[in-house]
Amino acid sequence: MYPQKNNITISLDFDRQHIWHPYTSMCNPLPVYPVKSARGVRITLEDGRELIDGMSSWWAAIHGYNHPVLNAALSEQAGEVAHIMFGGLTHGPAVELCRLLVDISPKGLDKVFLCDSGSVSVEVALKMAMQYQYARGRQKKKRFLTVRGGYHGDTFHAMSVCDPVTGMHTVFSAALPEQIFAPRPGCRFSKEEADWDQEDIHILGGLMAAHHEEIAAVIIEPIVQGAGGMWFYHPQYLRSLRELCDQYDILLIFDEIATGFGRTGKLFAAEHAGVSPDICCLGKALTGGYMTLAATLSTDHIAEIVSQGTPGLFMHGPTFMGNPLACAVAVASITLLLQSSWQKNIEEIELQLKRELEPAKRAGSVADVRVLGAIGVVEMREPVDMAALQKFFVEQDVWIRPFNKLIYLMPPYIIGNKELSKLTGAVLQAVDFLSH
Ligand code: PMP
Repeated sequence: MYPQKNNITISLDFDRQHIWHPYTSMCNPLPVYPVKSARGVRITLEDGRELIDGMSSWWAAIHGYNHPVLNAALSEQAGEVAHIMFGGLTHGPAVELCRLLVDISPKGLDKVFLCDSGSVSVEVALKMAMQYQYARGRQKKKRFLTVRGGYHGDTFHAMSVCDPVTGMHTVFSAALPEQIFAPRPGCRFSKEEADWDQEDIHILGGLMAAHHEEIAAVIIEPIVQGAGGMWFYHPQYLRSLRELCDQYDILLIFDEIATGFGRTGKLFAAEHAGVSPDICCLGKALTGGYMTLAATLSTDHIAEIVSQGTPGLFMHGPTFMGNPLACAVAVASITLLLQSSWQKNIEEIELQLKRELEPAKRAGSVADVRVLGAIGVVEMREPVDMAALQKFFVEQDVWIRPFNKLIYLMPPYIIGNKELSKLTGAVLQAVDFLSH
């Protein structure tokens, strides 16, 4: 039985007995809340309760939900062609999307590989780096260097470059390629040079000196480490990293899957440092949170070398590559973003988050409060009880999903200041609740 349109009865029992949800037990899962619909920054539950969204569906729904422009892009495209193989065929939405991406992404990233999800775009980036080194006769360069505290996805090679502890993949470690880990960047995000300490990258430099003959690339989330700890670090780290990569003939991959499309206050986090990577992964907000789609961008140079080497092509080609529906909605989402006053909105969100989360610093149970762009983080001293806190937030009519020691907000960019205050107010109450 498939639920009738407009009469959707989600059976929580069936869900509980048969459906896996992310990162929870199948036998004793964390509770789920059935959603009926969502519009703007409001999520309506099946029981009629309305929650203000503080998560943008994990960095993705930057324009909020049910946006008329994005809806129209999807339905218009569905009337033309929903999907068509990308082998031997191409189409307007893919061309238009790639033109936009080449145009707005950090300088030099002129070639685009479209793929299915963030994790796959990381796999593509790592494969591309390996194929590049192979084509240059440097077969030994097949390992990756990264920093602790990173998160790059759930597929196998992506898991190998996630933080070995917080990356949630310890159980697979015996099956994963062993990569090289430098400490997490230590200096906090700041626009001041004085806040930078060159020592911060010293160990990474040493690892490169020792292992450069076997390192294909460095992969890192620029400025913001997301799921590995929501940590914001100094832009000088990336400038020094770029220099080291050039010095040791190592490619630099930026994973902008979470940070891309304005979240940190710049269109891409790389812009805080004025640095371009050789390869860049995009996803999440690419389609405004409507569909799964990701992209791996590279320089012309990488594309040329990969294409000249054996076997003269890049070894990847997923079934749903360049899906027209996803590309069409991505074009609409990026155009909407560029036409909006996103920078001003995010500046305002940033100021309000700083002002309104600040009082949390005074609680003894809080280790740190940090804000960058439209991301506000309250780090507790101890891991939180996720199910209890989730219930607490739903009772406050907000959707905020904490994990481990982190309670964080990353609302859609269209959020109004009253709605944002409701979110920050709920976070402060949660801190209070956890402190007693
Ligand atoms: N890289 C980063 C920085 C991410 O935050 C994520 C998702 N949390 C991924 C990669 C993986 O993306 P996906 O979940 O779309 O596979």
